[in-house]
Amino acid sequence: MHTSSESRTRFMEACRLWIALALLLNPGVLWAGATDGPDAVPVLGGADRSAGVLGPLRHSEVVFMYAASDEAYQAYGATFVGWGGAHTAEQVQRHHDLGARCTGSMWCLTAGAENIHKDPKLRAACAIDIEGHPVEVPWLFDHTHEGTKSYFGCTNHPDFQDLCRQRVHQVMAGGADGLHVDDHLGTAGAAWWQGGGFCDYCMKGFRAYLKDHATREQLQQAGVERVDEFDYRSLVRKYATTRQEYRKVQHQIPLMGLFLQFHAEAAAEHTRQLGQLAAEVVGRPVLLSANACLPNKTHTHVVKYLTHVICEVGQNASAGTSRLDHAIEAYELVASLGKPMAATASGHDWAFVKQNDCDELVRFWIALAYAHGQRFMVPHPQRQWCFSNERGTHWYAAPIEAYAPVYRFIRANADCFDGFEAIDMKDHRPDAPTNVLVTARRRSGSNEVVLHVLNRDYDSQAKRMRPLSNVEVSVKRSLISPTKPQARLLSCDEPAQQVDLSQGKDAVSVRIPQLRLWTLVVLE
Ligand SMILES: [Zn+2]
Repeated sequence: MHTSSESRTRFMEACRLWIALALLLNPGVLWAGATDGPDAVPVLGGADRSAGVLGPLRHSEVVFMYAASDEAYQAYGATFVGWGGAHTAEQVQRHHDLGARCTGSMWCLTAGAENIHKDPKLRAACAIDIEGHPVEVPWLFDHTHEGTKSYFGCTNHPDFQDLCRQRVHQVMAGGADGLHVDDHLGTAGAAWWQGGGFCDYCMKGFRAYLKDHATREQLQQAGVERVDEFDYRSLVRKYATTRQEYRKVQHQIPLMGLFLQFHAEAAAEHTRQLGQLAAEVVGRPVLLSANACLPNKTHTHVVKYLTHVICEVGQNASAGTSRLDHAIEAYELVASLGKPMAATASGHDWAFVKQNDCDELVRFWIALAYAHGQRFMVPHPQRQWCFSNERGTHWYAAPIEAYAPVYRFIRANADCFDGFEAIDMKDHRPDAPTNVLVTARRRSGSNEVVLHVLNRDYDSQAKRMRPLSNVEVSVKRSLISPTKPQARLLSCDEPAQQVDLSQGKDAVSVRIPQLRLWTLVVLE
């Protein structure tokens, strides 16, 4: 382990290199999240490949969701805190002294009931429905002030945008490394699911969007003669004049697909601008993340502007390891969008873990995320959010001794994670026993391949994986071509060992003597 001053020195050197490289590559842009599109390489993408330079999240990163104690960070080997907690210079310094990057976080959901009640400007900057009434955030039903509810802010309205900008100034005042934006959809969330998105600013923005995105046929079919004079509310009122009616027929109204797309793109642009502001506030490039709930498609629009995604990914805890499709879809989607993710499980999953004390299942989720090239955030030692219909919000204090060894294993073997890319195996699934899950990752431009072999044979009574012996995994020769006759086996609960490869005409096979949870097979 490095001492605190050593790691700090290394950290600061890396920061200086990173900043210098960023400004050299793109002197006009201070913001690390800027890209030309979903497939473009981030401005600082090249930095990740240079040893010691800190760019976007690396694969081996150990991410805390919220701030924690020094002892917890040290126990886990923390490198990043993703969801705020470093709003002051002192907090930023504390994280840097421990070798961890940190963030400020703000939200775009609402100005808050009290502010809305007291400030007429903010009251006029809420998302409104087709009747002109403000739209309340349903899950904040108990957050009211003297009868005023918590209404969605309109992220297309200059006065609510000003409030969001003030929040960025506040949370980046300490010079944090990144900005995290929660509820990034803003008024788009109200438009997609709550009947909102109809203020004058939204209408003005939609007119501009139609000019660029609607075909002549789409406009003709909707009866739009002159886009410049078009007010979507007049068309909507032919179908529905109240929010209640509107929510029943919303998806039958012409141009609705474009209307929702406009809102999602406008919210994404708003998030991009907040990231740019954060960089201006601290005077250097910053990371930018949002709570983009993938694989939900509404949340994909913003990803092109982010350096990474931080979100909840449901793990179907009550089904043990039998229903992983949703999590794997989220991990593969974010990889296809070209951005790294740090995930946590849902509030329901954590409530299940707290109630059933099933820490082995959580260790499996950690392995599953990393095996797919993503990160699973450290289960918080004091306050991991749980939610159940019976108990509502409550908290899980995740025992450090149950989870820290997995993260220490990842940090100790960072070389087997960083710089690797997924090998597409859709047409050539590796041969392995039914209850074994295998992914393969290759170091770019080399023969080096790491197979992530996961035991998913979960015994829900014993709350343990059933250990498997002599697990044979075969991968097609067309996918891998190791030059060494042996493989290294690494796992967090057994000493490293070497085993001979069996080289057939069509496939390379390896036998793992004992598979408990997760073994890395390193082929060179
Ligand atoms: Zn609006």
